[in-house]
Amino acid sequence: MTSPENRNENDGNRLIQAIRGTRDLLPGETEAWDVFEGLVRDTMALYGYREIRTPIFEETQLFARGIGEHTDIVGKEMYTFRDQGDRSITLRPEGTAPVVRAWLEHKLGAQGVIDKLFYIGPMFRQEAPQKGRSRQFHQFGAEIIGTDAPEADVETILLFLAILEGLGLDSWTLHLNSLGSRESRMAYREELTGYLEGVANMLPEEVRGRIASNPLRVLDSKEEQVQEVTAGAPSILDFLDDASREDFERVKTLLTDRGVPFVINPRLVRGLDYYERTTYEILSPDLGSQDALCGGGRYDGLGEMLGSPERIPGVGFAAGIERILMALETAGEDLVFEAQTEVAVVSIGEAARRRLFALCDQLRGAGVACHFDLTERSVKAQMREANRLDARLAIIAGDKDLEKDEVTLKDLASGEEEAVPIERIIPVVVERLEHTDPELEE
Ligand code: AMP
Repeated sequence: MTSPENRNENDGNRLIQAIRGTRDLLPGETEAWDVFEGLVRDTMALYGYREIRTPIFEETQLFARGIGEHTDIVGKEMYTFRDQGDRSITLRPEGTAPVVRAWLEHKLGAQGVIDKLFYIGPMFRQEAPQKGRSRQFHQFGAEIIGTDAPEADVETILLFLAILEGLGLDSWTLHLNSLGSRESRMAYREELTGYLEGVANMLPEEVRGRIASNPLRVLDSKEEQVQEVTAGAPSILDFLDDASREDFERVKTLLTDRGVPFVINPRLVRGLDYYERTTYEILSPDLGSQDALCGGGRYDGLGEMLGSPERIPGVGFAAGIERILMALETAGEDLVFEAQTEVAVVSIGEAARRRLFALCDQLRGAGVACHFDLTERSVKAQMREANRLDARLAIIAGDKDLEKDEVTLKDLASGEEEAVPIERIIPVVVERLEHTDPELEE
């Protein structure tokens, strides 16, 4: 059967469109993304994080083991396929497991160093597309591998908040929890399972199914009915072992020292199996139901799940770029970027066209962003295009001008024009652009 989603390639000459849940980033948006990524990179550098780029696809086992078989991600959201060699391959649904895999594989911690790494890139999850939720989306994330110091947990939070501050996004709520150690979580899980079995008949069927496989996940369901029914569930914070409790206290103290407000949310278990101790989420009031800007926590057991003989402590977060940009838009904060084209080159006649084509390339060599009109339309149309591009200057010449080795230089803001000898035009343009740089004039 052919549903709208899996219409196959046999339906003739239909216009092919991007796959549901994915989208194109068009010019106009890409500039804002560049500015955004620049800010992320600058802030990461300020905090001492270095970039890592891992492949977009990995062995399926990496995620099955690290994230856990009974999570939504592994259970139903991964893009998994068999390649020509019959290997099971998965498009990465998240960045932490690949980073830890790479860290172990390349023995980045060989000298006992603490590594601070960040990544930016696309992630893939086959979720039901809705506002704030797509199938290819983009995250940036930071990881500190090699220490279980609570300062590391807090540093990742401060780093993310510094990025929000840099963007001018100042409304957010930090939700904080501790899942304790794996052992204390097991004890809690048992208690919680008993409680949930007692109220199971009041839970929707698909939530009921989680009681046996992943009872903690029942708690972070957003459904009102589930929240009401489980309101009296035992709290994970009552099950923390002494070391985890002490660690959690230190995390809270460090946040308070920095004046960072937080809400303790014992239901914040996060969907992934690898978390222990600190978990956190930073939510925005400017988004609808998909309101998490970033989620993170500590994953000290992940290295072992991926085959490391030793326990590798680590902590980090992943943040959704689309969500942050949406929140910025709602908050009315614009990412400013400078118009690209500085000089538009307008030519009339064949000989002029040839000279100015060469000149345009020389201007680029001198670092000037230059637009050569590739259509052979009228001067008027070329000037209209120059204005549309928001160019600061136009260089205009016809065959006659070039017989005199001259061009006309026009300031598109003031409308002033002057004749400039062609051999002087590059230094004059460079000087003029420096002179009219709005930033310098402020
Ligand atoms: P998670 O690893 O699920 O906690 O995701 C971390 C962050 O990535 C979330 O807080 C969101 O901002 C973003 N995110 C997760 N899933 C999606 C999705 N399907 N579409 C868009 N953004 C997402």
